Amino acid sequence: MISYKYKSPNYNERVKDSKVEFIIIHYTGLDMEFDKVINWFLSKGSEVSCHFLIDKSGEIYNLVDLSKRAWHAGKSCWSNCIDINSHSIGIELHNSGTEDFTSHQFESLVKLIKKLMSENAIQSWDILGHSDVSIGRKIDPGIKFPWHQLAIENISYFSSLSQGNFDIDISDNNNPQSIKEIQNKLISIGYDINKSGVFDPQTVEGLKAFQRHWRPAAVNGLLDRSTKNILSDVCEKFNQFRSEF
Ligand SMILES: [Zn+2]
Repeated sequence: MISYKYKSPNYNERVKDSKVEFIIIHYTGLDMEFDKVINWFLSKGSEVSCHFLIDKSGEIYNLVDLSKRAWHAGKSCWSNCIDINSHSIGIELHNSGTEDFTSHQFESLVKLIKKLMSENAIQSWDILGHSDVSIGRKIDPGIKFPWHQLAIENISYFSSLSQGNFDIDISDNNNPQSIKEIQNKLISIGYDINKSGVFDPQTVEGLKAFQRHWRPAAVNGLLDRSTKNILSDVCEKFNQFRSEF
């Protein structure tokens, strides 16, 4: 199932006693053939790598040993963890960012995530996108990534409120109490934003990151009614998951 024929030199040691808690999903984003993508991860000069790369046919390549710290997340933060590379497994999907993921690729991803979750005691709510942990800096795995299908496989949560018509009323946008509540909710899910109490650029980026994951049909950075409702739902579910654990 997993090919070990390629090895990336781009890794170092995980920080001492770090627990692998997260799986971070990426797209390669490079409009290149697979050979060029693999060469990029194998070249010392690129200084990037991942633990697994999945091609469009669904073949899985292990590029860095799981015990090592692969260089996939860069500057990132989730739930106050600022060394995501030490605490995660990085999975890259060969995808330009503007095309659909293939069904073979998705099936392999699901199998791989399930295996990694059981072997490393990783929880479903800790399966994240690069855009979740690198707000304002990264947008992968992008709005084409089927988070709702991962939820069907019980390896993610997707709000039922994310489907259907959106109520995009934004009349509440400038209410400071409401903005504070929104920031608290984003932070309690894990997003790295400050509790500024104002609708500032970092809040817009935080909302966009949230929408990429939970309302990919409309990533607008606005505090519309639909975003608020989905945010409340996801926040409540995450708190429930974590308290049960
Ligand atoms: Zn990425």
